[in-house]
Amino acid sequence: MERGKMSTSQSKPKLGVDIDGVLCDMIPDVLGYIWKTMNIRMRPDDVKRWDFPVGVRSMNDIIQEALSDRDFLLGLKPISYAREGMQILRDKYDITIITSRHSSRAENTRSWVDRYFGKEFPVIHTDEARKHLHGMNVLIDDAPHNIEAFLANSGTLAIMYNQPWNVWFNPISRRFRRVWSWDDVIRLLMEEYYR
Ligand SMILES: [Mg+2]
Repeated sequence: MERGKMSTSQSKPKLGVDIDGVLCDMIPDVLGYIWKTMNIRMRPDDVKRWDFPVGVRSMNDIIQEALSDRDFLLGLKPISYAREGMQILRDKYDITIITSRHSSRAENTRSWVDRYFGKEFPVIHTDEARKHLHGMNVLIDDAPHNIEAFLANSGTLAIMYNQPWNVWFNPISRRFRRVWSWDDVIRLLMEEYYR
């Protein structure tokens, strides 16, 4: 891609950005929720996989339940520099937020996005491993199944936002990159990839 060919909105590459684990730092609040509702004490280091047993339940079930609580959802905090990063990227990318949160969380999720990122970013709710169905050129996600499906089906570039539960995932593909911070995202998408 050449710099001069990206000046109009129609020709901006389409960038899909995940919420949980990319824009939203959910783990501290989830651990607080587990302590409050199940009396189980866990540390962030204990979360090394996407889903695993917690007491008699599964981590994913607990997260889905916590997200049904409006106060819990709206109390979540953005990941460091995600807000600034989105503002920088929107100049050169047509950004859509794509989440696999259940569509019953759509209204509260929209309020959360409005509060921290503004109203200009559309939000799509989609099933797990279906993020390749929305015509994105680039996807930033933290879930191996979403990155895997995106690489297999479409897309120019799949970016894994590093989290403890995805460190093992290392596909051999020229279209795969891993980032460790929003600084990395900016460097990759504004300086390296965007040419
Ligand atoms: Mg995620």
